[in-house]
Amino acid sequence: MSNTPPPPPDMPNPWSGTKIRQAEAENRRDNREFPCPNCGSDLRFDPGTEAMKCTHCEAEVEVPHVDDEAAQVENDLWDQIADGDTLRTVETPSLNCNTCGASVEFDADEHSRLCPFCDNAIVADVTMQRSIVPQGLLPFKVQEKEAHELMYAWLVKRWFAPSGITDNADTEHFNGVYVPTWTYDAYTDTNYTGKRGVYRGSGKNRRIHWTRVSGKVTGSFDDVLVSGSKSVSVEFKDALAPWPLQDLETYQTEFLAGFRAENHTLGLEDGYNESQQFMHAKTRDWIKADIGGSKQVITSADTRFSDETFKHILLPVWITHYTLESQRYRMSVNGQTGKVYGQRPFSRKKLAIGALVGFLAMVVIGGLISVSTGPEIENYIRSSNW
Ligand SMILES: [Zn+2]
Ligand SMILES: [Zn+2]
Repeated sequence: MSNTPPPPPDMPNPWSGTKIRQAEAENRRDNREFPCPNCGSDLRFDPGTEAMKCTHCEAEVEVPHVDDEAAQVENDLWDQIADGDTLRTVETPSLNCNTCGASVEFDADEHSRLCPFCDNAIVADVTMQRSIVPQGLLPFKVQEKEAHELMYAWLVKRWFAPSGITDNADTEHFNGVYVPTWTYDAYTDTNYTGKRGVYRGSGKNRRIHWTRVSGKVTGSFDDVLVSGSKSVSVEFKDALAPWPLQDLETYQTEFLAGFRAENHTLGLEDGYNESQQFMHAKTRDWIKADIGGSKQVITSADTRFSDETFKHILLPVWITHYTLESQRYRMSVNGQTGKVYGQRPFSRKKLAIGALVGFLAMVVIGGLISVSTGPEIENYIRSSNW
């Protein structure tokens, strides 16, 4: 008996070689494995260019150009909070730093387990961390060498910086880290009541007169930044800004090749609460301007928020640490603009000279100018240990 089934029809097999290779390539791309087509070594995104460069043979591979507006899309805040899953999430092997709270991706190739943010050894186990995939990022523009030079220039400009610190700092390694960030937009309507104070009269008869007032101010907020990282938020809000958000690129893992990304440890809703504090503070300024007069008192302010949207992006930061008199200091450089923020090291010897010069100046001009010397700066030294 011959029960041989008929030969399969001649149709494309969905599991054909090319498809498998494509799926494999996609998988590798998601896992950020970019082998050099020339020698097989790792490719690394080359700051300031649109390409990845081989760490071994200098071959270059362009980052595919994506011409969509995904990076600039404003997502509805309450839709996302209510549904929870409108944005794509991804699970990454991560290490959680017990010292500063950072959650950094774990790179299996990396032998050191030092936290790039606080420089302490991470002893925790690798865990899978689920986080929202960023929609856009500012790619690194500043090379590591440039970051070094910028930091050097920053340090030598500081009068109290001890000699030799720059040599010391030169030996330190920079970590290129993408920091997760939320941006929030909202309209605000605020009804307020308060009092306006106006001075009348002059000399001894000068008196302030208060009038009860009420009114309404409206505002529009665009891209209020909140760091999704608890480890570098201070630097983010004040020191490393501004960020050229008009240059955001659509998120592509190629931009991250050779760099580390931090997972957000501050969620979308908590981030929004933080942005609202900023908006409330700004609204109070507007109310005071609206009240006018010489002095203002705000008795009540009732703000309604509407059209709230957000973006989830990554911002590039070079971070390094250095030791001075057995203290560790952190320095960071904006990976796009080169702006430097550092904890300022003070030389005790130069401080002593500074205090003497200050003292002499006070003697010469009869103590008219108060010179801030020792104690304040000593406090700074003590409090700047991260
Ligand atoms: Zn190569
Ligand atoms: Zn840490």
